[in-house]
Amino acid sequence: MFYTFKLKSILIIIGILLCLCLCLNIFFLSNTTITASKKAEYIKWMEFNINAKVMNDALSCDIETNEADYPISWIDIIAYLAAKNGNSFKDYKSSDIRPFVDKIKEGCSVEELTGDLKYFDYYKETYSAVLSEFAGSYTITGSDGEQKQKYGLKAYSPIAEGFAFSHYDDFGASRSFGFKRKHLGNDLLGRIGTPIVAIEGGTVEAMGWNRYGGWRIGIRSFDKKRYYYYAHLRKDHPYQSTLKEGDTVKAGEVIGYLGMTGYSNKENVNNINIPHLHIGMQIIFDESQKDGNNEIWIDMYNIIEFLNSHRSTVIKNQNGEYEQKYNVESTGDGIVDY
Ligand SMILES: [Zn+2]
Repeated sequence: MFYTFKLKSILIIIGILLCLCLCLNIFFLSNTTITASKKAEYIKWMEFNINAKVMNDALSCDIETNEADYPISWIDIIAYLAAKNGNSFKDYKSSDIRPFVDKIKEGCSVEELTGDLKYFDYYKETYSAVLSEFAGSYTITGSDGEQKQKYGLKAYSPIAEGFAFSHYDDFGASRSFGFKRKHLGNDLLGRIGTPIVAIEGGTVEAMGWNRYGGWRIGIRSFDKKRYYYYAHLRKDHPYQSTLKEGDTVKAGEVIGYLGMTGYSNKENVNNINIPHLHIGMQIIFDESQKDGNNEIWIDMYNIIEFLNSHRSTVIKNQNGEYEQKYNVESTGDGIVDY
């Protein structure tokens, strides 16, 4: 009798322990699955081939409707077109955006209009990562101290107003210095000393010599999604003199000067044949994509074309250094939590 009771107790204890093990196992297993699926949720690849006409039309519509009852986001328009046309914009006509715009103006929601478009969410996320901080509200203070509130394009061409440059779409062209590789940017050919301005505000993450880029600056946007790489800056005086790593810059602020440094292990060497700015833009959906084999660099040719109409006005100060003429404060600049 006593032994049976003891045996029963032991069996019950073993049963409880087994149940506990099973529950813990399920808990940890499901946790691992959640962690793994969370890790896999970011976008691994994107291409950017939206031309300047599409961006101009979409942004004009966004600006026009900004204070209307049904404001239309330019990125929604672009994502809609991309989802409709398989991300091909070569046959684009301005009238292509009308069906979408008219329906929104009638009170249709974006979800209603795009619900059956399979890749709308993907294009919206990828094009937002590139363009969302390019437009919005900002305050501009004129040289007379007068402040104006504006809504529109906030990003600037990297080449200051009044300075000439030429470029063509050279993204993906073959380069051989160091090792055979693809050109991951756009070369803007101009005169040595041309003031280079920040396309967008952000934090200076990298400055100094790099054997490929020569004197270069890397600026990370405040939302951390974009990394701008400005390379081959001028010999002897590459940067705006007070600029240092860790500083924050505003869109349109002078950061350095066009040159022809690079392709050398030795610092401060002009080893590039033609003076030009190499501008590159890296898109980062997850920090693991920042450095290494998973980097995403996009073709900036169309973006440079698009920004060509928005140049930063610069003046020379008493130290012979160029600086932005007007103070432009962008809503959200520097206050994004990261
Ligand atoms: Zn280049």
